[in-house]
Amino acid sequence: MKYISTRGQTAPKTFSEVLLMGLAPDGGLMMPEEYPAVSETMLERWRGLSYADLAFEVIRLFATDIPDADLREIINKSYTAEAFGSDDITPVRSLKDGIKIQGLSNGPTLAFKDMAMQFLGNAFEYVLERENRSLNILGATSGDTGSAAEYAMRGKRGIHVFMLSPEGRMSPFQRAQMYSLQDENIVNIAVRGMFDDCQDIIKAVQSDARFKEQYQIGTVNSINFGRIAAQIAYYFAGYFRATENNRETVSFCVPSGNFGNVCAGHIAKQMGLPIRRLIVATNENDVLDQFFKTGAYRPRTTEHTYVTSSPSMDISKASNFERFIFDLTGRDTDQIQALWAEVASGKGFDLHFKLDEIRKEYGFVSAKSTHADRLATIRAVYQDGDGLIDPHTADGVKAARELREPGETVVCLETALPAKFEDTIREALGSSVAVPRPAKLDGLESLPQKVITAPNNAETVKTVIREKLA
Ligand SMILES: *Cc1c(COP(=O)(O)O)cnc(C)c1O
Repeated sequence: MKYISTRGQTAPKTFSEVLLMGLAPDGGLMMPEEYPAVSETMLERWRGLSYADLAFEVIRLFATDIPDADLREIINKSYTAEAFGSDDITPVRSLKDGIKIQGLSNGPTLAFKDMAMQFLGNAFEYVLERENRSLNILGATSGDTGSAAEYAMRGKRGIHVFMLSPEGRMSPFQRAQMYSLQDENIVNIAVRGMFDDCQDIIKAVQSDARFKEQYQIGTVNSINFGRIAAQIAYYFAGYFRATENNRETVSFCVPSGNFGNVCAGHIAKQMGLPIRRLIVATNENDVLDQFFKTGAYRPRTTEHTYVTSSPSMDISKASNFERFIFDLTGRDTDQIQALWAEVASGKGFDLHFKLDEIRKEYGFVSAKSTHADRLATIRAVYQDGDGLIDPHTADGVKAARELREPGETVVCLETALPAKFEDTIREALGSSVAVPRPAKLDGLESLPQKVITAPNNAETVKTVIREKLA
């Protein structure tokens, strides 16, 4: 399997090469040349498999340049009951109204990013060792992604992580989660500034080509296809757990921000998994909801991006969305270049004449939640005796309840555990409701923390990197 860029100006790459890449040099995103097809016989054979065995069958179709025995080892190390709390890895439960919830957030950092990142950590270590290389990951985080990356990369040979975070802007829980890591290869840098300042520093360091080359600087952002490949596996797992046989169809409802999660669902459907619809759930930052309702894609400016109570979905533009539009245009790289020139100019684009195809052929529909919807949904689920759901999952459940059709099986993806967002749960339910926390995180906030505080400039960050790697 070769990988090509959505913009068509990059030489084809292997899976291992794509793993270590960010954006393609032409500004596009890497995609498999064609999607592997899954036959009825394969689905029959896969139905009874454990999570790790199923993930192996799915990912090997994409990671064709990694020998099977090696890939199996990478995957067996990644999806363990120890890391994910149960042999099921992504357990499926039912709400009283029949909507199903697939738990993707039982990993080390309690958010679905772990599903992909745990695989990526082991796959990176393998590829780097094989090629006798090292990699220094430089990232910026305001919460979930940075911690998932650190927990996946901690202790890995050949890898250092330099993670910038805005000083004093994360919750005590999020800070403790990251800064309590004592691993030698994890370096937390608290920048005196905002999240945007952290991102500007990354851009400045990245644009110093000599520094980037000398210190082998890389990233782990959500456009990495390795992450998407790992995510495709849990759509298969969710389908098998929610159905009795392979003649049934399932619709997935996905709390969405950068479109990475639901993009994996789109690819699973294209491969032949019997997915009926893909319900995209957004919060107040509703660029995707507007697109699926009107066909117009209008990214926001940072000033028009709201801070919400489902913060991991607060995006101005959906960085993986180009992958779907690539398929929608029949993989027309010229058209993708033209459309993203419109995005870069701030105008966006309008494909309303494609809405029928988007709904009927690709199965996409969408809904949006507000803060009030989120609180009401958390409350309704709790009052039904269905326990606690986090604010992001609540956006999903709200969309599923709004759009579910008679007889339709809807699986809502749970993208974080409520323990991560206690304040919003308390706002919805009052402070008398205890928000359970997995035992492994008891006392997290009182562990010693390791963090370097730095002024808001790129030179200091470069110095930290130089000294660490000297
Ligand atoms: C990252 C994240 C999302 C959004 O996922 P995308 O792949 O960006 O669409 C939703 N919920 C939680 C809890 C997340 O961490």
